[in-house]
Amino acid sequence: MPIKGTDIVKKLPESGKKNCKECGFPTCFAFAMKLASGGTTLEKCPYLSPEAKEELEDALAPAIKLANIGSGENAVKIGNEEVIYRHEKSFIHEPGIALLISDKESEGEIEEKIRKIKELEFPWIGLTLKANLLAPYFESGNRSKFEALVKRIYESTDLGMVLISEDLDALFSARDICADRKPLLYPITKENLEKAIPKIKQSPTPLAVRAGSIEELVPLTTRLKEEKLDELVLDPGSKNLMEGLKDQTFIRRAAIKQGFRPLGYPTIAFPCFIAKDSLKEILAASLFIIKYAGIIVLSDVDKTSLFPLLVHRLNIYTDPRIPMSVEEKYYEIGEPSEESPVLVTSNWALSYFIVSSAIEAAKVPSFLCVKESEGLGVLTAWAAGKFSGDSVGALIKRCGVEDRVKHRKLVIPGRVARIKGELEEALPDWEIVVGPREATGIAAFLPPFAAKLKT
Ligand code: SF4
Repeated sequence: MPIKGTDIVKKLPESGKKNCKECGFPTCFAFAMKLASGGTTLEKCPYLSPEAKEELEDALAPAIKLANIGSGENAVKIGNEEVIYRHEKSFIHEPGIALLISDKESEGEIEEKIRKIKELEFPWIGLTLKANLLAPYFESGNRSKFEALVKRIYESTDLGMVLISEDLDALFSARDICADRKPLLYPITKENLEKAIPKIKQSPTPLAVRAGSIEELVPLTTRLKEEKLDELVLDPGSKNLMEGLKDQTFIRRAAIKQGFRPLGYPTIAFPCFIAKDSLKEILAASLFIIKYAGIIVLSDVDKTSLFPLLVHRLNIYTDPRIPMSVEEKYYEIGEPSEESPVLVTSNWALSYFIVSSAIEAAKVPSFLCVKESEGLGVLTAWAAGKFSGDSVGALIKRCGVEDRVKHRKLVIPGRVARIKGELEEALPDWEIVVGPREATGIAAFLPPFAAKLKT
């Protein structure tokens, strides 16, 4: 639970009465209040004792700590979550989707999985959706085989890894191959903990702690924290989907509602081990996206299962307070030519998606101009003054579509036919054509309209 400013001030120098102003605040109390709201940092006060600093750092840390797996632009951040329910505010860091590769799989299967993770990318409303981790799994009993797998993944991708091995020596020799990529080491258990600690300290990297139950996780995370190993991921050892749902929910509630620090870490879930077939595995993964896994490990992926899962993840981890929107510019739908239709819509992601899909369905390559309208639909944007004739006219002038077509006919949504006159004044060279009211009408409207442009 967040610490209050009035509690922070008691820990400041001279119990908050020093008031030297060196932090840039007029009093220790003002500094404490700002600190409590996240508006400044402890480093600003040079007089904090090491003990007070450590205590306050701990008290001010987020309820669920952040963990970083991987490096560079492929680093996956998980944790830092602040709410139980998405509608309370927003979920923050979407879970990493990891693909399991066992060292018992054939050369061809391994190659195919690496190819899939690299190639299965889906453009979606201006974003690229993809799975983001690989999970090499020591299953063969042959340590050099596992090391060869990790090396192969390391050399052929830039992705972060979840290293899975019950054999501690194999786990750390694999860690040494890819230590610069900050792999997640799994599992740290009560059986291997003390032996693992000195090896972890040689090259610290995130750790996934596994126990037989939530209660058994607590002494493990407490012990690791004593050793200042605090970038942790929790596996409560759930044996089936129902247990998984219960455990994930319990951990989230304990961390956020009770402020229980030993469970204040992101979690990992293994649909690959608890589901009996591929359909149930994807269904389990979709459940863990909602409730509340930080990493989800799958045994395999294909286009038809991964794409909906990634869209689902995007939807759950999009801030509900901010409408989803696409960038203002003209988009090419298909391969348009200088005789192709030009249409305009607002930048609400759903508007863009529905209109572009309708154009694709009509099989008429077109230019679709998207007007920035703060993520509002066309009619709402017009009512809010963000889809006026003047502003749409200005977009057509500046977006460059005039250089791409030789005709001057612009199709506007039928719902905002009322901007036609204003738009004709803003674009005197253009003929303004009122299109269908509903995007579903585009399929019938566009082919004859496009045929006329060619005559
Ligand atoms: Fe108080 Fe520290 Fe700020 Fe000085 S620098 S006013 S001691 S919080």
